[in-house]
Amino acid sequence: MIEQDIAKVLVTREELEECVVRLGNQLSKEYKDKNPLVVGVLRGSVMFMTDLVRHMPIPMEIDFIDVSSYYEGTESSGHVKIIKDLDTSVEGRHLILIEDIVDTGRTLLKLKELFEYRKAESIAVVTILDKPERRVVDLKADYVGLEVPNEFVVGYGLDYAQKYRNLPYIGVLKESVYQREILD
Ligand code: 5GP
Repeated sequence: MIEQDIAKVLVTREELEECVVRLGNQLSKEYKDKNPLVVGVLRGSVMFMTDLVRHMPIPMEIDFIDVSSYYEGTESSGHVKIIKDLDTSVEGRHLILIEDIVDTGRTLLKLKELFEYRKAESIAVVTILDKPERRVVDLKADYVGLEVPNEFVVGYGLDYAQKYRNLPYIGVLKESVYQREILD
């Protein structure tokens, strides 16, 4: 069972739910007459996004984009390749970009630049987790669930080697999991 690999729980299921309700209420007020296009950045944001939109009883559309960030060591380099683009035109639309976590901020900065270039009317960044200590570019999320310390976290959409996305809470992995990976 995947729970056995977790050293500690950082954010409980209940805390996540509270954040989702709070952000859903805020966004519903802000966007009630704007028919926003809610854009999920695959794959990490899926759990959060599907929970969030169910707390936003307003007219909206949803779409997804899949990007791969190139890493230099453990940090994204700022080079972003589009794996799957949106199916919807963003021109003149109010975009709500949904992320799982903002780390260096490079991926979201690139996406914002892309959607500005494509003439979105407005762009708001919503993230369930934020690691502000790690930021290397000038990118501020407009709506944040919770700030977390500079630790590698998994669960609620966030993976390690594509696993643990289905944990219903946010946790930190045991050191032995990384050792196992090296031995494999
Ligand atoms: P950035 O461009 O902000 O450095 O990269 C953000 C992306 O890096 C996130 O969408 C996420 O996929 C990945 N990431 C950053 N920090 C973590 C973390 O603590 N855990 C996991 N699983 N992924 C992370």
